Amino acid sequence: LSQLAFGLTTAKYTQQFYGHESQEFRMSSYPALKMLINGEWIASGGEGSMDVINPATEAVLGQCPKASKEQLDAALAAADEGFRVWSAKPAAERCAILRRATALIRERKEEIARVITAEMGKPVSQALGEVASAAEVIDFQAEEAKRAGGRMIPPRSPQILSQQVHHVPVGPCVLLTPWNFPINLPARKLGGALAAGCSAILKPAENTPAAAQMLVEALVDAGVPNGVVNLVHGDPGMISEHLIKSDVTRKVSFTGSTAVGKMLGALAAQGMKRFTPELGGHAPVIVSENADFAHAVATCATVKFRNAGQVCVSPTRFLVARSMYDKFVAEFTDRVRQIRVGDAGVDDTVDMGPLAHARRVPAMDYILEDLGGNRGEVVTGGKRIEGKGYFYEPTVVAGPAADSRLMNEEPFGPVAGIVPFDDLEEAVSIANSLRYGLAAYAFTGSQDESYYLGKSLRAGMVAINHLIVASPESPFGGVGDSGFGSEGGVEGYLGYTDTKFVTVAKS
Ligand code: NAD
Repeated sequence: LSQLAFGLTTAKYTQQFYGHESQEFRMSSYPALKMLINGEWIASGGEGSMDVINPATEAVLGQCPKASKEQLDAALAAADEGFRVWSAKPAAERCAILRRATALIRERKEEIARVITAEMGKPVSQALGEVASAAEVIDFQAEEAKRAGGRMIPPRSPQILSQQVHHVPVGPCVLLTPWNFPINLPARKLGGALAAGCSAILKPAENTPAAAQMLVEALVDAGVPNGVVNLVHGDPGMISEHLIKSDVTRKVSFTGSTAVGKMLGALAAQGMKRFTPELGGHAPVIVSENADFAHAVATCATVKFRNAGQVCVSPTRFLVARSMYDKFVAEFTDRVRQIRVGDAGVDDTVDMGPLAHARRVPAMDYILEDLGGNRGEVVTGGKRIEGKGYFYEPTVVAGPAADSRLMNEEPFGPVAGIVPFDDLEEAVSIANSLRYGLAAYAFTGSQDESYYLGKSLRAGMVAINHLIVASPESPFGGVGDSGFGSEGGVEGYLGYTDTKFVTVAKS
């Protein structure tokens, strides 16, 4: 179960799931990077361009245009007009166009997956899974548009003929996405926004522009009208501030770090704009003495290093019942030592690629710097892999101190900390001790413990006996410093709507 459901990390699984030999397809060429403003593809940035780097080789993949304020203003004007056109279309028509786009994404999945791998390093099998999931997320949101019917409220007086609750699209949205899931995160946001009848300006991460561009291309090719989707690239600080401050913008959705999320939230609040922040996490995993040990250790060691640990819901603080702690550390470490790290762009047998960009390497060193002695033992890994590329050793730390960086700050990388606990209340208290509250996990064979853990773990999402919290149908989001609101599921759709009450009395 653990490998089928969570892994998809090896060439064998690539073959099994996608029916091709692992070396059969390669990225034919890296796309010429462009912005899309009012239906026009624009290669020239008003602020020049920036290099896009392959993190596995440090080679320049391409030049990405950087938007100027004038180009952003053009995108805002386009989104304003696009909203008028798109929100007037019947939901079924919007749904049909979005479903055509997902058919195109599925047709182009191999090319898109190769581009994702080149841009941020994840194994192609994982990139293929991400593309498939992006299409499904959009499909769900598109279908939801046809179901989101509002409701009738019985009037209190015979004079009142009707009381209706409508879900109306909020308006033009600014969508800011990071690099760890370069197509899936734009798909979550664009899927919800477009399904609900909003227009959008998407700004993807600086290091993964092409994957987002390929998604936008599919939408355009499927018939999304001019101005409804706009794509801009460039300096994130300047772009987000300019777009959020505009009167045109009615909603901001951001996935990224807590520090940036708080800044953008303050900007959105000044303009009284809807804001959905999906921020960092530092997920605990409680392994009870009643857990199926073999399942727990295999699942944890596989999932932790998916996407090189660069996942906001990545399990990171492993809290293990003292009776099985030594065995867990030994078996977890043994599995981690077998992880094959390498350039997934040329070798489909690697399990883990590089970190996505240069600054993630010192970020890992920083997390590990205050360990050692009685503050925690690095049992495997712990340093950059020498040579070209931003490769870091899969790292396991046994017994990190309670006040260590690893136990308190999100590593967002291939670093796992394992600590023992004596009773479940203590484990829950450690799990709940941070301001983050995105995902929390536990393994136990006891129904009572499952119920207790599901209830007491403070997080937006809790998974017990497995580590999957994301699906097209389910709400994805956090509490505390991990943000608020949801993406995905019905909640994700409703996040792009305002509630409007309409009541009519006899004339
Ligand atoms: P970073 O904060 O420099 O960049 C992360 C992302 O935020 C990038 O996509 C960047 O374009 C965007 N960003 C940065 N400043 C911005 C601004 N002022 N306005 C709009 N967007 C802005 O950090 P990094 O080293 O690239 O990534 C690591 C950190 O980012 C981690 O702390 C992690 O929490 C966070 N992150 C979170 C997610 C997630 O899924 N929640 C994904 C990627 C990164």
